[in-house]
Amino acid sequence: MSAPSADDPPPGAAPAVEVCGLRVSLDGAPILAGVDLTVERGEWVTVIGPNGAGKSTLLRALGGLLPAPGAIRIFGTPSEALRRRERARVVATVAQSPVVPAGMTVFDYVLLGRSPYVPPLGRESAADLAAVRDVLDRLDLGGFGRRELATLSGGERQRVFLARALAQGATLLLLDEPTSALDIGHQQEVLELVDQLRREHGLTVLATMHDLSLAGEYADRMVLLAAGRVAAAGPPRDVLTEDLLATHYRASVRVLPGEHGPLVVPVRPR
Ligand code: ADP
Ligand code: MG
Repeated sequence: MSAPSADDPPPGAAPAVEVCGLRVSLDGAPILAGVDLTVERGEWVTVIGPNGAGKSTLLRALGGLLPAPGAIRIFGTPSEALRRRERARVVATVAQSPVVPAGMTVFDYVLLGRSPYVPPLGRESAADLAAVRDVLDRLDLGGFGRRELATLSGGERQRVFLARALAQGATLLLLDEPTSALDIGHQQEVLELVDQLRREHGLTVLATMHDLSLAGEYADRMVLLAAGRVAAAGPPRDVLTEDLLATHYRASVRVLPGEHGPLVVPVRPR
């Protein structure tokens, strides 16, 4: 199988992600209890839900890190049929708290994204190095190549994690809370960047986020996960409702109309 390109999907092409009846148990405890989810090519879908709802577990299953026999198709291919290198050319994951290898430079970290293209026991090619330089430039990280990753600020680091995912050349990005460590300005910067890359490169984005207003401004569709099940799904205005957020987050909020989506404002309970 060759890696599909999202640039020009053939008519009737399979969605980027199809999840059907996904069940995951960890240490004997049911974590995902039958999740259904479709993400079309080029779409941005954001999964929200209270802490412990199973959002990260869902992304880990989609990234092939948890077994999910028969429940997941990626660009039409059953997930378990994708070999590791093959999958890495199609799906790139930015974990919730990626491990930052001690002493590693930004350049070498982003170069790890090219591993699926380096032959076993081989070395990265000039094309791989050029791909890394190109991605660093595109993400305004050109001046950071020699810096140790551990010395970067949270926002800079998040851009580097994205750079590694992009260097992988995958068309499906799985982003687990890409903005939770960032201040409000850097949150916007990272989400604008992801959206720009999505439009320019035809990427598909499946993200999890905690900031509900921000989530609603960028997502085409949202999925509310609660206790391992899909409690609601649809455009942001159908998911970000006072009733649903009260029921599933036990939160007292007001939802106000916003320019790009509903704005969720916490208010003290009466
Ligand atoms: P979220 O990302 O929505 O906050 P997670 O997917 O990280 O939720 O976790 C969902 C549930 O699974 C939580 O209750 C968590 O404690 C539990 N969990 C996660 N990893 C394990 C594990 N290895 N063993 C047992 N339970 C786990
Ligand atoms: Mg999580």
